[in-house]
Amino acid sequence: MVHVIIMAKQLSERRNMIDIPRHNLLPLVIHPPHKVLHIHTSDRTAFKQCRRKWFFSSPLQLNLERAWPNDKLWLGKLLHEALAHCVVSNPTVTGTMWSYPTPQGEKDIYLGGPLTVDNLEEVFEICQKVARANLAQKMNWQGFSPEQEEELDGLLELGLAMCHTYMLWHKRVAKFKVIASEVPFSVPLYDYRSGNRLRATYDGHIDFVMDDTEDLRDPNLWLGEYKSVAQMRDPERLQFDEQWTSYIWAKQQEQRGGDKKDKYLGVVYIELRKKKPRIPDIVYQGKRVSCNKATDTTPDVWLETVAQLEGWEGTLEELEQNIHRRADTDYIAMLDNLYEKERQGKGYVRITWVRHSQAEIDHVGKSIVHEYYDMRRPTHIVPTPTWDCTWRCDFKEVCLALNDGVDITEYLYGTGEYVERIGYYGDVRDE
Ligand code: SF4
Repeated sequence: MVHVIIMAKQLSERRNMIDIPRHNLLPLVIHPPHKVLHIHTSDRTAFKQCRRKWFFSSPLQLNLERAWPNDKLWLGKLLHEALAHCVVSNPTVTGTMWSYPTPQGEKDIYLGGPLTVDNLEEVFEICQKVARANLAQKMNWQGFSPEQEEELDGLLELGLAMCHTYMLWHKRVAKFKVIASEVPFSVPLYDYRSGNRLRATYDGHIDFVMDDTEDLRDPNLWLGEYKSVAQMRDPERLQFDEQWTSYIWAKQQEQRGGDKKDKYLGVVYIELRKKKPRIPDIVYQGKRVSCNKATDTTPDVWLETVAQLEGWEGTLEELEQNIHRRADTDYIAMLDNLYEKERQGKGYVRITWVRHSQAEIDHVGKSIVHEYYDMRRPTHIVPTPTWDCTWRCDFKEVCLALNDGVDITEYLYGTGEYVERIGYYGDVRDE
């Protein structure tokens, strides 16, 4: 039997109202018809990945997350934040302020001047400091264990290396203009069959909007996403990243009935490999940088090493021109090899442009409407176990316990392992 309960806004209220049974049919949160559902993009993703995960995590259901962050997702979130600050063309800001909690009250960090990609490492470090303080507060200032400190330090080191790699790549490759970062949207949903407005919105954030033309009167806009990846995989899979097609649909919906008709051509993905490029060896009694083609590095880090060895003070671009001028065939061959790896998508940063047809975009819009109906009154909260559960799901232990018929109520609400998610956009409101 499916238990039906009414949505409660506060965790404590939910806790009193939810009676999780000892079998794998969970009680659903059913929203009264007058409530407006604000469906966040992460809701859709979780709902389609695994309904059980959606049930635990969605603001439309239990709205829980693990108190200690998932290291892979935490790093990605911090990188997004730092990139959002630093990779906007012609920034007009003259200073940026961050606040972070301490046991004695709020403190601020101020960074003067406009933010550019050159500040990326510094901003990442600040974002990490703020996130660490928020985490400490979430854990009631009990302090981190040595293992937890080590984990956070490792993420900081890796994140800084990734920022450095990205910064060098961006300065060499990125000729595009990022005109806005972290762009929010919230569009009303309509039933495409009847045209009736539904009591729901589709909400989210777009990592960045990019213009690939010089003509500001007729911009060609692309929506962009950063992805941090363990390794570069087949770019064809990006064609199936339906979440981003939904963002184009949302931007088109914002223009519904208005005069503004921006053209959104597709999605641009910037993938960052989660690895520190290897610093090449110095060989020939400290006189040359190794030209071993198996060195897993980037053209920029390799050139940086040459610059350090030679005491070069110009830009890396000038250093490369110099290497060509003096016809250093080994160095030229090494650089060609590293550039070729990057062109083949085997480097550390990859940019991929994916166009979507209008039919495809409209199809996604219809899917969102169907998913809205399913989310408003979900019938079966079935789990979708895959091998990815091991790294992608914060509820894997709870899920296995539930399969074993264990009462998970205490584990979810009484151990401090899980807390209510805050700062997410999926929501239910009286409107
Ligand atoms: S562990 Fe897998 S099957 Fe279980 S809730 Fe998480 S995603 Fe779903």
